[in-house]
Parts: sequence; structure tokens; C-alpha cells
Amino acid sequence: MQKNTSLRRRIGLLALTGILATVVWLVGGVVLWLMLGQQSKLENDAQHIYDVSSAKVFEATRIIRGLERLAREGDSLACITDSEQRKERRQRLESVLQDAALQGDSDTRALVSRSFTTLDQTLAVAAASPGAGVCAQATALWAPIKQDLLNKSEAVGAEVADLATTEADQILQTTSDARIMLFAVAGALALASLTLFGVLYFAVARPVVRLSKSLFQARNGQAIADGSEFIRELQLLHDAAVALGGAHQELQTARSKLEHLAHTDALTGLANRRMFELHSGQAFVHARRYQEAVSVVVFDIDHFKHINDRYGHDGGDVVLRDLGHYLQNAVRDADRPIARMGGEEFALFLTHAPAQVAHQTAERLRKGIEALEVSMPSGELIQFTASLGVAQGSDHDTDLAALLRRADQALYQAKRNGRNRVEMAD
Ligand code: GH3
Ligand code: MG
Ligand code: MG
Repeated sequence: MQKNTSLRRRIGLLALTGILATVVWLVGGVVLWLMLGQQSKLENDAQHIYDVSSAKVFEATRIIRGLERLAREGDSLACITDSEQRKERRQRLESVLQDAALQGDSDTRALVSRSFTTLDQTLAVAAASPGAGVCAQATALWAPIKQDLLNKSEAVGAEVADLATTEADQILQTTSDARIMLFAVAGALALASLTLFGVLYFAVARPVVRLSKSLFQARNGQAIADGSEFIRELQLLHDAAVALGGAHQELQTARSKLEHLAHTDALTGLANRRMFELHSGQAFVHARRYQEAVSVVVFDIDHFKHINDRYGHDGGDVVLRDLGHYLQNAVRDADRPIARMGGEEFALFLTHAPAQVAHQTAERLRKGIEALEVSMPSGELIQFTASLGVAQGSDHDTDLAALLRRADQALYQAKRNGRNRVEMAD
């Protein structure tokens, strides 16, 4: 149930992240589109302003040039003494009169018309009475109109300068608007991105980092100190796995203990008959297949009944236990199992051992047993002997039991021959 809630929350967070990512990209797209629009508008506005402004400045320049030329020429025309030259210069001034720019504005048109009337008057004065004083007279007549022309020229210049300033202000305003828009857009995008990355970090990146850290810790068998539900779940899982591993280990230990018990003689710690038959049976089959020499030594404590009778059953047990301890040390090779076959009877299976080698081993054991000193519960030290029978495996032995039977016969022979001795089977 908890797992489902966690999963639902995770899916919810991922869906939220997806929606946020979509919103951010949508907002980004719209903003980009708006910015491109704004840029295009800015370019159009600037172009329009440039077109209008340059036409007006061009027109104003022509007006100013025309008016100033008229003012200058009018001053000097009456002072030209050569009447032909005067006429020609007057003729050339007609171009000013015909200039469309100067005809556009009614005020300018009236001024230009008035200027030419006055000019013609001064020329008429000069033509009527040529002489030294005519230049000064004509200049005096022209002076007020000249002033009007210069004033008008100045006014046109000021007007066009105002226009240029206003238009420059417009361009600056448009640029400023675009800059503010750009900042607003960049801010919105930054905020949206921060939110998105925040959500991504908390919803996805951090849990993934925590999970991988936890998995790493779990793999190393360390405890995971984390409060989140997900990590707690993982911790529980880890604990369960550890507990399961522990239980499995305990089960294995118990199983091997049981196996050991099933194959071991409790009193002496040696293998029991079951184990001996299992292990030696396989070794016997293997030796037959590969024609290897194997031998069996069986032995029995001499007059054990007497020990029991004299020192009690417990005394007899001490003898068996000490003998078991001695045999474990005397026959260390794991490939040579030595077993308590029952009562005070023992057996040893020897691989790669012909009768002669087995006899030597049996003799070594006999001497070792003979030399043993066992301390009875009463504190008395006693010694005892054993009789041993040795048989080498032959083609006549159909199985291990057959070989054991022949070794037993040799053992009885040793008993019959006086005990504490080794006898070989036929
Ligand atoms: P022999 O030299 O002919 O072997 O004489 P023996 O007295 O050893 O022969 P026998 O096989 O007749 O006696 C074996 C005795 O071992 C009989 C039995 O009570 C005793 N015995 C068998 N198992 C145990 C045991 O686990 N503990 C003790 N204390 N005695 C046992
Ligand atoms: Mg005996
Ligand atoms: Mg016996």
C-alpha cells in the first residue's frame, strides 16, 4: 500500500516536471516570437523614421539654400553695372522661383514671390538711373526682404532640427521599449528555468542520487541512514536480505552439523560405519576401475570387556574416546577415513596401498595403541592392546563388504594367534 502511494507520488512529480518543461518551452517559444516581432517593428520604425526624416531634411536643405541664395544675389544684383550681365543673372535666379520645395509652403511661396517683386523693383531703379549711388539705394531697398529671407531660412532650419530631435527621441523610445521587453522576457525565462530545474532536482535527480548511494551502501552491507520512505523501504529490503542471508547461513550450518552428526561417531569423533561404507565404497569402485591397489585394516580392542568390568562403562568410554583422539592424529589423510564400526571395533581404508604398505601402517597403529596411557576416572593409568587384520583388495572381492569380510577373518586370526598382533588375509 505504502509502495503504491510512493509510486503514485513519483509518477505525479514526473508528470508535473513534464508539464513544467512544456510550459517553459512554450513560454520560451512565445517570447522568442514576440522578440522577433519587436525587432522587426523596431527596424520598420527606424526605416520609416529615416525615410521621412531624410526627405524632410533634404527638402529643408533645398529651401534654406534657395532662400539664402536669393538673399545674397538680391544684395549684389543691383550693384552690377553691366546691364546684360545683370539680366543674365536675374534669369538664372528663376530656377529658385521654380523650385518645387520653395513653392510647397504658402508662407515661403508668398515670401519668395514678394522677394522677386522687390528684386525687380531694385533692378528697375538700377536700369533707370545707372550711377554710383544706385547700388546703395538698391541695397537699402533689398535690406528688409533680405532679413525676411534669412529669418525664414533660420526658421526652416530650426523646424527640421526639431523634427530630427523628435524622431531621434522616437527611435530611442522604441529601442528602450525593446530593451525593457528583452529584460522582462529574460527574467521570465530564468524564473521558469529555475523552477523547472528545482522541480527536476527535487523530483528526479535527488531521489536518483540517493537511491544509487543507498544501493551502493546496501551492496557494501552498510546501514543506510536516510529518512525518506523510499530509502526506508530499501533499508527494510536490505535488512530482510541480510536476515534472509543470516537465516540461510544458519540453515547451512545446521545442515552441515546434522550431516556431520549423521556421519560421525559421537563418542570418538571418528567417522561412523555409514560414512566409512559410503566413502570407502566409492574409493573401492574407483580403485577397481583403474586397477589401483587398496587395502583395509580392521582392528578390535583386546579384552575390552575386562576394562568395562574393572573400571565401569564410563572407564571403557574414556578408553574409546582417547583411542579415537589418537587415531585422528595418527591417520590425518582425509583420503584415508578411519571409522569406529561399532563397539570397540575400528576400520581404516587405504588407497594406493598394497598389502605390504597396509601392514606397515597396521603395525605402526598397533605399536601406537600399545604405547597409549589412558587415565581412568579413578586416576589410575591403564594401557591396552588391539588385534589387527589386513586385507588387500583383489579381483575376487565383488564389493567392499567382501574385502571387509576377509580383513575380519585376518583379525580373528590375530585374536586366535594371541592378540596384540597384525595378521594378513590370504
Ligand atoms: P576380545 O579380545 O576377544 O575382543 O575380547 P572383548 O572382551 O573385547 O570382546 P567382546 O566383543 O566380547 O566384548 C566387547 C564389549 O565391549 C562388549 C560391550 O559391552 C562393550 N562395549 C560395546 N560398546 C561399548 C561402548 O560404547 N562403551 C563401553 N564402555 N563398552 C562397550
Ligand atoms: Mg574386543
Ligand atoms: Mg569386539
